[in-house]
Amino acid sequence: REVVISLRDVSQIYRVKKRDSFAGVNEVRAVRDVTFDIRRGDSFGIVGESGCGKSTLMRLLSRLELPESGELLCHGGDIGKLRGKGLLDFRKRLQLVLQDPFGSLPPRTAVGRMLEEPLRAHGWRDRKVIRERVLKVMGDVGLAPELYEELPLGLSAGQRQRINVARALVLDPEILIMDETLSALDQTEQFKLLDLFQKLQREYDLTYIFISHDLAMVRKVCNRVAVMYLGAVVELAENERLFFDPGHPYTKALLSAMPVLETRRYQPEDCLLDGEPPSPIDLPTGCCFKTRCPLAFDKCDTISPSLMARGNRNFAACHLVTSQAAPPNSQSGGQP
Ligand code: SF4
Ligand code: MG
Repeated sequence: REVVISLRDVSQIYRVKKRDSFAGVNEVRAVRDVTFDIRRGDSFGIVGESGCGKSTLMRLLSRLELPESGELLCHGGDIGKLRGKGLLDFRKRLQLVLQDPFGSLPPRTAVGRMLEEPLRAHGWRDRKVIRERVLKVMGDVGLAPELYEELPLGLSAGQRQRINVARALVLDPEILIMDETLSALDQTEQFKLLDLFQKLQREYDLTYIFISHDLAMVRKVCNRVAVMYLGAVVELAENERLFFDPGHPYTKALLSAMPVLETRRYQPEDCLLDGEPPSPIDLPTGCCFKTRCPLAFDKCDTISPSLMARGNRNFAACHLVTSQAAPPNSQSGGQP
């Protein structure tokens, strides 16, 4: 499958004034040297605790921010260099579905009008054609045509989230970024929407990026997952491998906190997660996970582990991972 999105050593730094000094500035390294590829048709999960850099990564991926260093490529072109028509095309191609269905919909705009807006902004003019397109997308996400003239006020959380999805779909995008899209819904609604996402993926030929703290959700929908800790990707793996044979102690700790997993090939009691992550202003030397890692040893104190291949397309950044050579003719065995 072709690569749609590529990140190459992407880093983002925020500079914040020190509270107790007039001139001093703290550097917050929100995203650190992130490298991975997303392929057409992937449901790519980005997971981690709050503050791990996933929201920053979401803003970088959707070009709401430009990175401090590194490259983000869409079909091989640097999205940081897009201007004018190129940028408009990118905005159409990649859509964001946000977290809060109650905060993000204008209360006094009828559903249909709301869905017409992106089309008008992208130059659609014919009222009949616009209406047909909106009704088609409403049907595809399970919204009744009668809702065209309704205000979103009286609608359920699930219906409102469908409106958000429809608003992202109406321009026929290639990539949808779902930022905690299902967090505000109850479980029954979540399951319904996950089914809907799978159906839409086939019908619209979509590539998904799910940004979430919810591992159970990610396990259900994602084929490939990046686990982030303190701004860095510490593990990158196919779904099966990540959930049944994780390579990084941090991933193991996150999974141990999940209610039920059918099979475990690791000892969960080795890897319970204590304490808080260190401040991103003052990162530890060596491995960034060492302050919470039950398996840390002397090397972890000084040397920062890089992502090591654990067979084809699976990587973990830990000194305890013994690198397995990728099969010789695999396409991307050697590189995330
Ligand atoms: Fe733990 Fe060391 Fe591996 Fe870091 S490199 S995760 S501290 S064992
Ligand atoms: Mg966040």
